[in-house]
Amino acid sequence: MLTAHLDSWAAGTGATDDGAGVVIAMEAMRILKAVGVQPARTIRLALWTGEEQGSLGARAYVHQHLADLRVSQVSNQMGLPDFLRSLAGPVQPKPDHMRISAAYTLDAGGGKIRAGLAPGTRH
Ligand SMILES: [Zn+2]
Repeated sequence: MLTAHLDSWAAGTGATDDGAGVVIAMEAMRILKAVGVQPARTIRLALWTGEEQGSLGARAYVHQHLADLRVSQVSNQMGLPDFLRSLAGPVQPKPDHMRISAAYTLDAGGGKIRAGLAPGTRH
């Protein structure tokens, strides 16, 4: 499963938060199709929104397909909507949960992707 999100946040310069992650995930899928890869398993691409507002898209997907996540029942959180409450208790997996072998995401925010080898590391 490849994931990324697209939204904005207080210090953002537009709805570009994780735009690079979205492009990379979509490009990876395009390349796999272009070279004719026949994967042994389904590769899912999921693009979320509302990450900065409590991971709304990802949470909705998890709830719909993968697991029930219990939220805190502590009295000081009961006035909050579920997406703002802390997670608590065991995860209750749904059948699709067992079908996910790996999930990859890249979230560099709205800026450049910065990565490299540590000084002195040879490749
Ligand atoms: Zn975001």
